[in-house]
Amino acid sequence: MNRMIPGVFWIALFLAVVLLPVTEMLVSPVPSGRPFWLEASVGLGFFGLTQIAVQFVLIARFKSVTAPYGIDVILQFHRQLAIIAIAVLVFHPLIIVIDNPSRLKLLNPLGGNWASRCALVSLLALLAIAATSIYRERLRLNYEHWRLSHLLLGVVAVVFAQLHVSLAGLYTNNGWKQAIWVGMAVAMVGAVLYLRVLKPAWQRGNRWRVTEVRAERGDTWTLVLEPVEHPGLAFLPGQFAWLKLAGSPFTLEEHPFSFSSSAQRQDRVEFSIKALGDFTSTIKDVPVGTLASLDGPHGAFCIDRYPAVGYLFIAGGVGITPMMSFMHTMADRRDPRPVLLLYADRDWGGVAFREELAGLQDQLDLQVVYVLQEPPGDWQGEQGMITPELLRKHLPKELILRNFFICGPPPMMEAVQTALLEMGVRQEFIHMERFNLA
Ligand SMILES: Cc1cc2nc3c(=O)[nH]c(=O)nc-3n(C[C@H](O)[C@H](O)[C@H](O)COP(=O)(O)OP(=O)(O)OC[C@H]3O[C@@H](n4cnc5c(N)ncnc54)[C@H](O)[C@@H]3O)c2cc1C
Repeated sequence: MNRMIPGVFWIALFLAVVLLPVTEMLVSPVPSGRPFWLEASVGLGFFGLTQIAVQFVLIARFKSVTAPYGIDVILQFHRQLAIIAIAVLVFHPLIIVIDNPSRLKLLNPLGGNWASRCALVSLLALLAIAATSIYRERLRLNYEHWRLSHLLLGVVAVVFAQLHVSLAGLYTNNGWKQAIWVGMAVAMVGAVLYLRVLKPAWQRGNRWRVTEVRAERGDTWTLVLEPVEHPGLAFLPGQFAWLKLAGSPFTLEEHPFSFSSSAQRQDRVEFSIKALGDFTSTIKDVPVGTLASLDGPHGAFCIDRYPAVGYLFIAGGVGITPMMSFMHTMADRRDPRPVLLLYADRDWGGVAFREELAGLQDQLDLQVVYVLQEPPGDWQGEQGMITPELLRKHLPKELILRNFFICGPPPMMEAVQTALLEMGVRQEFIHMERFNLA
């Protein structure tokens, strides 16, 4: 209930903001005598542009905005909303041209006017954003380069769209109508400044130092960080932070990682990172003493948000990291509730934290079921994938009394979710953390 009030508030505010410029069109003085399709097109333009502007605030990681839903849901919303907005903005000139084909010249940079040229630049920037986001992996675009281009193209798109609106001069003909557009520009610039200037400036005074780099099984490395002259960071078990290593906190290179340590310790946090790509493969070589910055905590994948009489954790590979935070926190809190962990990985030698899990079994009411894809010859346990049959075999009868936390490769998560739903588990008891935000 506590989370519902801010959740509903932000949705209501979002609707009010995106509908504001369209409402503005309907308020006097309304220009008379303009054709219906021209007006409809302008309305679509305003609607699309406001949605694009809202994206800047949406992705600025304001905790009060992201907390009720979880940042992965916000980013998913951002993606879908942006696609709708871009489609709407493509229809804006199309309708004008279809209504009167002589306006086709407006789409020619040499044939139109400055208002139409600005609109064209804005639209091309938006289409470039859509193409590079949808096809980033196919285009083999490096994530950091993509992110920088995403930001720059976004700024170009809204700046030129705003220029288009003022040059076209429709519906900006009095003070308060102009105030709406100025307010929107201020919110966008403010969101970028907050995320890229104010936050890093704060992080510069709240840095962390790497005090240990520990090898785990499965090409995974645990980075231990301690605060430099500040009390540390309060987080909930299962949350994550964006990590920046060395260099300046103003760098654009930052990666999200779940805390793998106990949330009871603010003064010593751990991230366990599997070497899978450019950045993660460098973790093993990070020298002790390296300075780091953290942007967090973020995320809604937390046992504390969903009190239950017991928990079921289903992890695949490095998806075990937030579960480690759950279990270390429960152990520190002497939490007596039962936990069943289904943990899938390729082979026994690469199962990260299996010794640590054995230690946790002495402190918690914890049952661990390992599921190996390539088990050793003498393996007595489960093998293959986490299937509906395997779930049925191990899950307790009183399913409804538990909350399910799933983290692992996307196909595994989807399969487990489908199987649980088929078994009658209600959606609100299933919680998933996706390691692919982009
Ligand atoms: C909420 C969350 C929690 C995570 N927790 C962990 C964890 O505990 N342990 C762990 O090993 N991994 C975790 N990850 C995954 C980790 O962030 C990526 O594996 C890592 O950023 C990849 O970087 P790379 O340069 O090594 O890989 P690359 O080969 O460059 O990228 C591989 C893919 O990772 C994603 N990625 C790359 N860079 C970033 C970035 N800066 N921000 C977001 N995504 C990026 C992109 O989809 C990219 O295609 C988590 C991810 C998320 C979203």
